[in-house]
Amino acid sequence: MNKIRTRYAPSPTGKMHVGNLRSALYEFLIAKHEGGDFMLRIEDTDQERFVEGATEIIYRTLEQAGLRHDEGPDRDGGYGPYVQSERMKTGIYMKYAKELIEKGEAYYCFCDRERLASLKTEVMDGKEISVYDKHCLSLSGEEVAANLAAGKPYVIRQNIPNEGTTTFHDELYGDITVENSELDDMILIKSDGYPTYNFANVVDDHTMNITHVVRGNEYLSSSPKYVRLYDAFGWQVPVYIHLPLITDENHKKLSKRSGHASFEDLMEQGFLKEAVINYVALLGWSPEDNQEIFSLEELIEKFDYHRISKSPAVFDIVKLRWMNGEYLKAMDFDVFYEMAKPWLERALPHGLDLRRIAEMVKTRIEVFPDIGGQVDFFGKLPEYDVSMYTHKKMKTTGETSLEVLKDVLPLLEAQEDFGNDALYRTLLQYGEEKGYKTGFVMWPIRTAVSGKQMTPAGATEIMEVLGKEEALRRIRAGIEKLQAA
Ligand code: GLU
Repeated sequence: MNKIRTRYAPSPTGKMHVGNLRSALYEFLIAKHEGGDFMLRIEDTDQERFVEGATEIIYRTLEQAGLRHDEGPDRDGGYGPYVQSERMKTGIYMKYAKELIEKGEAYYCFCDRERLASLKTEVMDGKEISVYDKHCLSLSGEEVAANLAAGKPYVIRQNIPNEGTTTFHDELYGDITVENSELDDMILIKSDGYPTYNFANVVDDHTMNITHVVRGNEYLSSSPKYVRLYDAFGWQVPVYIHLPLITDENHKKLSKRSGHASFEDLMEQGFLKEAVINYVALLGWSPEDNQEIFSLEELIEKFDYHRISKSPAVFDIVKLRWMNGEYLKAMDFDVFYEMAKPWLERALPHGLDLRRIAEMVKTRIEVFPDIGGQVDFFGKLPEYDVSMYTHKKMKTTGETSLEVLKDVLPLLEAQEDFGNDALYRTLLQYGEEKGYKTGFVMWPIRTAVSGKQMTPAGATEIMEVLGKEEALRRIRAGIEKLQAA
């Protein structure tokens, strides 16, 4: 069998959305799983949709995501140019369009805007398109030549018969047969001389030796027309794999409005690229077992495209957050610390033991931006309500808390070793002497030193990080608060 060659063929129209990222990832995985080549082709023939800088975003995103292309505009593999506008300059699309005209599979169309506007329209894929009536197919060779000589603007259209059917095969959907009468004579070459996406993708995929075409299932309805082009040229049709829709939590098509739909946005929101790739891999694909955490290498090894699902995949940010948290938990501490440091520095004043605090939060956060909310109390005691001292399970009330805090204050003042272990021993001993349970003693202390219901560490660890002076100041403040209540 020939070496597998896949391509990611983005149009440079902005950020790389999750759907695009998934296409790129699956194409990368399908190629790498079989030791094949993954190619990047920039589809910039739709000049109206072109966005300045978007090509750079594509390079950057692929690089960051670890989806290294073997060939592309910046990496010649002998199939270039890899940018469609440059391919156009070689005359390739026009050459093949003319070949189709000779074969009777395409024709010049000189109809102007007014005439096209008068044609009946049909709704296809939610878009209103006019159904071309083959008017120009009946022009004689002389008429066409005269129009061309007169410089009349034209497009080239695919000639699809009104009778019969067209069948194509998709690896996931199986054989799909459509009535030819439902297929419009789509434009192959536009009046500006550029090829349409519909034509360029066929010419390029063939001439670039692409074996597997992976794309969103919004292209399913156009595929019969592509297959007709391959057949007309006598080319081998590539393996088609159409991917399921990705929806948001409300089962609506994932849109830019969802806010977290692009790779860049997710990076800005503090997600790890490994977690994003892992998560995106599961948007429509699942392994044989229940494994959920995959490195890119593991994905390459396990990715069998036959297991891609046809059902829509839901982009669930809660699940992604969970997954990101799993990556953080598993991360080497030094690596974690380096990444967490800027977030800790942003949330905390100087002088605190950031490494120690990083240890506390490593298993408690899902994404780095969670750090602020977890640790800010170390920097500044938040305003808290006195009712926080009352805890049913610990059996504490405002009164018992006041008593405990008043008792332990002199013990802590006398405490020389303010390390976690020593503090713990002191408080444990106090509890034993009084016949109090540990929680009964620790709850009021932790409340006083943190002002929070939930903290990433216990009372004594927090005190150690705060240092004696600050810890005692907070306990005294707690006593005052309870006395005033
Ligand atoms: N340029 C198309 C897009 O960005 C590519 C679709 C395909 O993979 O063929 O949607």
